[in-house]
Amino acid sequence: MRPTGRLHLGHYHGALKNWAKLQHEHPCFFFVADWHALTTHYESPEVIEAYTYELVIDYIAAGIDPAQATLFAQSKVPAHAELTLLLSFFTPLSWLERVPTYKDQMHKLGERGHDLATYGFLGYPLMQAADILIYRANRVPVGEDQVSHVELTREVARRFNHLFGREKGFEEKAESAIKKLGAKKAKLYNVLRTRFQQEGDDAALKEAHDLLSDVQNLSMGDRERLFGFLEGGGKVILPEPQALLTPTSKLIGLDGQKMSKSYGNTIDMRDDEKTVSEKVRKMPTDPARIRRNDPGDPEKCPVWSLHQVYSNESTRRWVVEGCKSAGIGCLECKQPVIDGIIKELKPMRERAAPFEEDPTLVKNILADGCEKARDVAEETMRDVRDAMGLSFS
Ligand code: SF4
Repeated sequence: MRPTGRLHLGHYHGALKNWAKLQHEHPCFFFVADWHALTTHYESPEVIEAYTYELVIDYIAAGIDPAQATLFAQSKVPAHAELTLLLSFFTPLSWLERVPTYKDQMHKLGERGHDLATYGFLGYPLMQAADILIYRANRVPVGEDQVSHVELTREVARRFNHLFGREKGFEEKAESAIKKLGAKKAKLYNVLRTRFQQEGDDAALKEAHDLLSDVQNLSMGDRERLFGFLEGGGKVILPEPQALLTPTSKLIGLDGQKMSKSYGNTIDMRDDEKTVSEKVRKMPTDPARIRRNDPGDPEKCPVWSLHQVYSNESTRRWVVEGCKSAGIGCLECKQPVIDGIIKELKPMRERAAPFEEDPTLVKNILADGCEKARDVAEETMRDVRDAMGLSFS
């Protein structure tokens, strides 16, 4: 995410909640996209600096655990820029121009006074491709609107692999990776590989895949090598990632539009109870309910969308009946939503508190995460430079 403001409940329900779940299922990399923020905020760099640490605190508030997932800042892993540049040499301009969000965003943000007819803005989906490929990510958690960016990433990876081929010295590198499995697992890997290659035994292939997925001490590069070696191919230098579409809900903002900072209709993830209460109490309702005894229709009221997220079945029935019969007032109707949001935000504020009090904790998390990210990125870059004729010294 880009450090251009505090994160809000729209971010939480649209992405972060899912990220917090994914960290228990996969090794995850989550970053602060400070270079991406510069594509639109190049005239206000102070915003980026101020919100970088805030964004990390918001991630932690959402339940992302720095001990489980790697949290880092993009600009502190300069290899992202190097890979973006190297990919740019063979990425056709037309691929970037046809990304659906490009013209749409340029138009929307341009209306707000940003001049986005820039090289950086056209190239940001390519930088996203580099962000993904540099970690040899196999899954990218995105919403529907970002699937085209993952598709572009796959096309770029395919073109790279087609142009620059597979790794030099692959067999030797694979043999040395097998040794790293330890004697017992190495032996099992070799048996399974032989069973698959000589007898076409699919169960052996699956077992070997499971074995490699479970090994902890293998680098991503070595894992790819061993997957390739298993099936008799080479190591694909930049594996093609898949979009990981998971059910997420879009949260409606305080005015009934999509929740977004630019519409000024957000409830921030670290808003206190008083602020939440005031914001919801000021929300517009069905315009037909001018007086307390005017009946209304929940379908015409933004508060109803929040009931869908925060209220149980019986409360929702109470809302529909009470609204249509003017049996309840709007402030009364808003109270369960206020209570639900406060209950959701409480643990977030509690998780964030120690980090708000001591910024060095956040700096240390970022420093550790950046180091881990740099190590993985550097491993990929060695292969990329090698393949592109740049590994001489
Ligand atoms: Fe909206 Fe509830 Fe008021 Fe009906 S009673 S208009 S659903 S706030």
